[in-house]
Amino acid sequence: MTTVADGLTFARTLSENPRSAAERAEILQNPGFGDWFTDHTAVIDYHDGAWHDARIEPYGPIPMDPACAVLHYAQEIFEGLKAYRHADGSIWTFRPEKNAARMKRSAHRLALPQLPEELFVESLRQLVDVDRAWVPDGQGESLYLRPFMFATENFLGVRPSREVTYRVIASPAGNYFGGEVAPVSIWLSEQYARAGRGGTGAAKCGGNYAASLLPQLEAEAHGCKQVLFLDDGAVEELGGMNVFFVYADGRLVTPALSGSILEGVTRDSVLQLGRDRGLDVQERQVMIDEWRDGVESGQITEVFACGTAAVITPIGELKTERGTVSSPASETGGVTMGIRGQLLGIQTGTAEDTHGWLTRL
Ligand code: PMP
Repeated sequence: MTTVADGLTFARTLSENPRSAAERAEILQNPGFGDWFTDHTAVIDYHDGAWHDARIEPYGPIPMDPACAVLHYAQEIFEGLKAYRHADGSIWTFRPEKNAARMKRSAHRLALPQLPEELFVESLRQLVDVDRAWVPDGQGESLYLRPFMFATENFLGVRPSREVTYRVIASPAGNYFGGEVAPVSIWLSEQYARAGRGGTGAAKCGGNYAASLLPQLEAEAHGCKQVLFLDDGAVEELGGMNVFFVYADGRLVTPALSGSILEGVTRDSVLQLGRDRGLDVQERQVMIDEWRDGVESGQITEVFACGTAAVITPIGELKTERGTVSSPASETGGVTMGIRGQLLGIQTGTAEDTHGWLTRL
């Protein structure tokens, strides 16, 4: 079967040895996060200034030359979104056009070619179509979709690769932090930064994540799940999530898009749902002292993190070299859990999709 998007046809080569239904069922019983992959992958190659050879092929290793540009200069970007199975068995994804647009912006910053949005969405549809049985139906479960693009030219000069590959792989996912929603502890990284002005902070490139690993280890050594990064005392974001503050007077505040934080699709959705609830939504600079003082004075009642993987997760405490800032109300907080419930409801088909955010796959 073939489909056409943006002038390209997706050819299909199906796996000759997919996992058996029994093996798949065992994996789907407890999928974890990022450990298992479906039977196929979507691929589109770029060379001679254009995208070519869109296809679905069996999941498997990628042959690579030691001189492959991505191995040396990290010219690589990626995306992350989820496919949800609704009660009637239909499969949906959430605002994929936002991920497609972000991937185009990331591509621009990393001097990679831009994949048309229509092809991005079609690649997801094609992959989910062949690996439909891999979309879990348990509560909080989904099929995590990972589109990525990387330089494939075998060349050691420092210049943009003329050959690039775009791929999508898919991985069944349970609850990101495991089990039920529980507030997480965050470590404030004061020694390391994730991004700087003019850098790649707003792009979803692998290098940003490589740079976050050492501070992430530091966080774990302090018993924390995630790192908070600052820019000159201003709150930016966590290693893989954006941050929100709920104020007693009805303000919902998140750091403004400074050019060095990632523009989260969840962040944008939370801003909209906050407006819908009549909250005073603000995107502005938040200094780390405002967090500390706001919690101490009781002005800030809830703090939460948000992103595709973890949806919305209450932040119970911020640990720093100089002590801990606790936000006990985050756990049961009306705004955090209310928006979480609504967002999950929209994604999983139990709440009305008032903004038309769902796309059927
Ligand atoms: N910030 C960073 C650094 C991230 O990696 C992510 C996850 N993509 C986010 C924020 C949240 O973005 P989204 O809501 O689009 O998943």
